[in-house]
Amino acid sequence: SAAKEFVLYVEDLTVSFDGFKAIDSLNLYVDKNELRVIIGPNGAGKTTLLDLICGKTRASKGSIKFKDTELTKMAEHKIVRSGVGRKFQTPSIYENLSVFQNLEVSFPRGRSVMGALGFKCDNEVQARVQAVAEEIGLADKLDSEAGLLSHGQKQWLEIGMLLMQEPELLMLDEPIAGMSAKERELTADLLKRICKNRSMIVIEHDMDFVAQIASKVTVMHQGKILAEGSMDQVQNDPKVIDVYLGH
Ligand code: ADP
Repeated sequence: SAAKEFVLYVEDLTVSFDGFKAIDSLNLYVDKNELRVIIGPNGAGKTTLLDLICGKTRASKGSIKFKDTELTKMAEHKIVRSGVGRKFQTPSIYENLSVFQNLEVSFPRGRSVMGALGFKCDNEVQARVQAVAEEIGLADKLDSEAGLLSHGQKQWLEIGMLLMQEPELLMLDEPIAGMSAKERELTADLLKRICKNRSMIVIEHDMDFVAQIASKVTVMHQGKILAEGSMDQVQNDPKVIDVYLGH
């Protein structure tokens, strides 16, 4: 059949920790340009799922395919190179470097600290830094020390560092944690903008934010998918209501 072209295919994915199935025969398909949000109670397996996709954790069973590439047993750095970028909750920017330098050192080729050491970087890198800085709304902060940015700006910078590697699939874990209302709004715009030519999986707890950004919502519970669909569909699903009310 003329199968739909997904970017990410997760099939029969299972991982056990000491016999406990944190992810249990899970299937997940993410489209091009999709902004998929994963919700679910604590312990549902959301973080573990992203850990499996980015290669931080190994599956006990099943497969993860990104376009034509089998990721299931691939090394973490190769998964990044194949176009899958993950941002963790704790920021990992270089506080003492400028915004420009943070982006520059994240450029995949070389990945050197040459620029930070004062060497002039080539035009391609400069152009890429400029484009990414504009995309994340920090074009006027290129010379600022990263440590002096607001909490929200630091988070955007880290997303920018991911974008420097030109990922086609980005995975973010609670991107608005600790942000002000204004920063949340700007982050919603940023994520939607990023998905115009990439795909994204976001773990999020803030339902207002989920409603604002999601093209599709996946509800996880006990390592499985409990429901999937539009925000409206999942929040009116009796199974989902049950889980959130703690029956
Ligand atoms: P969520 O992100 O939805 O809150 P997690 O993926 O963090 O859920 O956790 C799912 C379950 O797997 C939890 O019960 C957690 O304790 C367990 N778990 C996750 N990682 C490990 C690990 N490395 N070793 C043992 N148990 C783990």
